[in-house]
Amino acid sequence: MEKVLEISDLHVSFKTYGGEVKAVRGVTFDLYKGEILAIVGESGCGKSVTAQSIMRLIPSPPGRITSGSVLFKGMDLTRLKEPKLRKIRGADISMIFQDPMTALNPTLTIGEQIIEGIMQHKPVTRQQAKKTALDMLDLVGIPNPLERLKHFPHQFSGGMRQRIVIAMALVCQPEVLIADEPTTALDVTIQAQILDLFKEIQKKTGVSIILITHDLGVVAQVANRVVVMYAGKIVEAGSRREIFYRPQHPYTKGLLNSVPRLDLEESELVPIAGSPPDLFSPPAGCPFVARCAYAMEVCDRAYPDKTHLSKEHHVDCWLQDERAIKMRVHVR
Ligand code: SF4
Ligand code: MG
Repeated sequence: MEKVLEISDLHVSFKTYGGEVKAVRGVTFDLYKGEILAIVGESGCGKSVTAQSIMRLIPSPPGRITSGSVLFKGMDLTRLKEPKLRKIRGADISMIFQDPMTALNPTLTIGEQIIEGIMQHKPVTRQQAKKTALDMLDLVGIPNPLERLKHFPHQFSGGMRQRIVIAMALVCQPEVLIADEPTTALDVTIQAQILDLFKEIQKKTGVSIILITHDLGVVAQVANRVVVMYAGKIVEAGSRREIFYRPQHPYTKGLLNSVPRLDLEESELVPIAGSPPDLFSPPAGCPFVARCAYAMEVCDRAYPDKTHLSKEHHVDCWLQDERAIKMRVHVR
């Protein structure tokens, strides 16, 4: 499969008065052409920072990519000069956020905003831009696009606003769309419609999508592949099937037990007790050790190596490591 993005050993820190917060600690993953990849984890796990770092959108200072690379079309985006990067943002890689209102200007009609957006990136006439705007609104399922172009953001429902934001993100036919919690602000039925829309636009346009979410329900509905983050690291990754039916990391299992499952009738919801470690001084060993029912002595001492379980499925957990299995000593 063709790789669109290659993120390698990415480290991102934030300087604060209390010290340096190591928000992303050695994240490596690829994005394949035409897939929907979900990055899941609790708030503060580094998923949004990872996404923002791809386009170098983290506020800097205090944020800083301290090492690693983000390859896109042979360029390392972590090293690119700002003017070049500005051309890539929006045109090649687009990003949408949780609250559609932050992306829309309340004082302009959506027609003015979309047409403006197109003309900023492309050498087209106003008429051509308007035609593209109408096509895009049609693509994202806005009825009567010609009429709706004249309306202001507040004249649309939350779900319709998020559709408009998605349309705006797609006007330049980007290769990558990064969506950070795009359905969190919407109610459940609307969420499902927006997730269907992601699948539909992926099929129609061939765009590759990174979907950031804390919600495994969202993942189950749309993702082809899943990356699970905890305390700034990817602790497990695999196909949706592998993650849902053969999860190996105790944290992934915990996440799965803490969300309602439509496919399991009598499932009992069990939240994961405890909280993630302080990322001012991350633990030397496994960051999940304090919350893990399977923790062994070695877990406290050293971070586990990555174990590959299949082509896509890998996990960072001592339970999968033969060396630890031989000398398994449980601490609790
Ligand atoms: Fe639990 Fe140890 Fe695996 Fe970490 S490495 S998840 S503490 S068993
Ligand atoms: Mg976030």
